[in-house]
Amino acid sequence: MLKYVSNTGGGDVVDFETAILDGFAADGGLYVPEELPKISKEILEQWSILTYTELAFEILSLFIDRSIMSEIELKDLIQEAYQSFESKDIIPLHQLKSRKDTYIMELFHGPTLSFKDIGQAFLVNLVHFFLKKRNEYKTLIIATTGDTGPAAAHFAAGKSTLDTWILYPKNMITSEQERQMTTLPHNNIHSVGVYDCPDGGDDLDFLIAILYADNDFKDKLKLSSVNSINWGRVMMQAVHYFYGYFQVVDYVGEEINMSVPSGGFGNLCGGSIARMMGLPVHTYVVASNKNDSLNRIFSTGVFSKAELYPTLSSAIDILFPYNFWRYLYFIVKDPNKIKEWRAEYENAGYMKFDSETFELFSKGYLSKSISDKQTLSIIGDIYKAEEYLLDPHGAISLVAADSYKEKLSERKLICLATAHPAKFPDITKKALNTERSLPEAGKHTSLEKAKEECESVYLCNYSHHENAIRNAMENNWKLNR
Ligand SMILES: *Cc1c(COP(=O)(O)O)cnc(C)c1O
Repeated sequence: MLKYVSNTGGGDVVDFETAILDGFAADGGLYVPEELPKISKEILEQWSILTYTELAFEILSLFIDRSIMSEIELKDLIQEAYQSFESKDIIPLHQLKSRKDTYIMELFHGPTLSFKDIGQAFLVNLVHFFLKKRNEYKTLIIATTGDTGPAAAHFAAGKSTLDTWILYPKNMITSEQERQMTTLPHNNIHSVGVYDCPDGGDDLDFLIAILYADNDFKDKLKLSSVNSINWGRVMMQAVHYFYGYFQVVDYVGEEINMSVPSGGFGNLCGGSIARMMGLPVHTYVVASNKNDSLNRIFSTGVFSKAELYPTLSSAIDILFPYNFWRYLYFIVKDPNKIKEWRAEYENAGYMKFDSETFELFSKGYLSKSISDKQTLSIIGDIYKAEEYLLDPHGAISLVAADSYKEKLSERKLICLATAHPAKFPDITKKALNTERSLPEAGKHTSLEKAKEECESVYLCNYSHHENAIRNAMENNWKLNR
């Protein structure tokens, strides 16, 4: 059996199915495979001609026991997860004309137009598969900074095993993102907007941790989560690094650079795992906005709490990059240390890694914090130069990479674009300096359609959100079970 353990060392050794259905490990840590598989150059060469779904099958097979899921079952699940993507490549790459060897990896062609579709498509289908087999159901509860919620809602909608609650900070996500959740007609999807969250989506993650810790409530409603702490998402998010690499290199073994707009470090945790498995990425650029916890970690070795600033790249307005701890497990291989560090950070709001550890985990990474002004200006520049429209998150990955031109040298560069620009129409208008209509590239029919639907949503204020949300969930549970 492939063993999954907690990155903080407590709880049982479990199998893949348990790791997925539990979300968090029993000691509150994050599940990790005890060992990462190593991929030889020969295998990489064989993989280099595969389609995205074929490649996903090969990589996922290394993490899932056949006794848990047969070859056919896994293939079907992957096929089903990605059939609703609008691009037949699933993840197309666009080469910029105005720069040398620079590619934008478009991770936003799923049904809700952000990179979250990639992880959620597979994870929600996987959870449904396990629950159906067990003849069980679960209540999913998820917090979102704008993209996780729509993706989870889309893939959970209509699934008989899942009742789904999505919490979002009201007025801190765009109305396009909000409507992707609130206009779904399915009665197993419940969106909750919470007014006046001081720390945005982090506050709602905190509430979920409280509800999880309440065993009566958790057992009664059979709570589970599919947020980015779930191993299933991180595992899936390793695949596009391999895929993107194979699309741009001249030969397998060539080293390239990648730049990633990062908040919770779930996406780049996938990338880091891909590199530890053997993918030849020379440098990862960790790109953040003004909320730069990750930049502080990677440039100074300090993990510290800070105030939340709302920015144009709202999906990465995140203070606590929880998946960094998961990455760290593979670097230091000492769960007790991770447990100590985590406790130190949680108690004091500050911790500094020793220089040896800092050197180990920061090798092969550069980091940068990018302002809103830089974000707007590059969206305008690239559109003017070649009529290609970036979203604010993709824009951040490009500016961050630009700032390290010399260090990145002549290697090919892939910038990850994580959202469709149509999710941020006001920002596009501002960047292109137009009050009038958006260019076609800044629109999407699914979002236009959602503007004409009724919305269905629970609303409450942060000052009483815990009780309000508990009551709403219990009442719904009583009515429906
Ligand atoms: C979630 C998200 C990110 C950040 O991903 P992390 O895994 O949290 O680092 C970046 N861009 C967009 C558009 C997102 O939705």
